[in-house]
Amino acid sequence: MNAGVPPYFTSLKPFTGLFAAGVPWLMYHKLGSRPRGVRLKGLYVSRSLFERQLSELRGAGFTTPAYGPPPLCEGNPGRRIALTFDDGFTNVFQHGLEPLARHGFRAIEFLTVGLIGGCNDWEAQEGEARQSLMDDAQIKEWLAAGHEIGSHTLTHPILTRLNVQEAAEEISASKKKLEDRFGRPVRHFCYPYGDWNPAVRDLVVAAGYETACTTEFGVNTMVTQPFELKRILARYQSISFKALKERLARTRFG
Ligand SMILES: [Zn+2]
Repeated sequence: MNAGVPPYFTSLKPFTGLFAAGVPWLMYHKLGSRPRGVRLKGLYVSRSLFERQLSELRGAGFTTPAYGPPPLCEGNPGRRIALTFDDGFTNVFQHGLEPLARHGFRAIEFLTVGLIGGCNDWEAQEGEARQSLMDDAQIKEWLAAGHEIGSHTLTHPILTRLNVQEAAEEISASKKKLEDRFGRPVRHFCYPYGDWNPAVRDLVVAAGYETACTTEFGVNTMVTQPFELKRILARYQSISFKALKERLARTRFG
């Protein structure tokens, strides 16, 4: 089904067939220009490319539901799409809100709950450029604009390396903290680095979430498990698909 389809989303044309076979959930991280010294350049989507992607999707009739993500269905007759942002970066607030509003799309921001108003410590520890994360006021504005928030844990750990108590705390305390702080139900979870196993997934189910996002490539259909949602990385086009595919296979992101 994925033959000839690029491993990431830059423009719609090569994805026309795939996006009709199931509901795509696009995965973004950071918007805007890249600061000096960035290691994972591919996690930045420029504002102009982001606007171009939204414009193209809207032009082709794709919509995000008024509330929540699209339900799983057979194929994608309603041309539904979900737009997701991982980690909670301030640059999404700065560069994303206006284009999303102008094109009438709603998005889900997966927040790293213990670092709200802080920085991407988990990446900075690995030598990545520091970037600020949305603070409470920005998250409230994000919600007021009609967007949704989900949990991306407290500290962005590799969940499968934690013991059960630690993993359960990251998964359920982050949900409760968000709900207490912002007064909204938090229904969606996103595995840091796309890392999960059945035990971690069961903790997400037990915590009361309705869905969980992975970083596995693909669209979602009736047979997709709601706690194993597939996503497609949105990024700019640079090196060859084959070279990038190999690099992505070696890189942890999400
Ligand atoms: Zn992440």
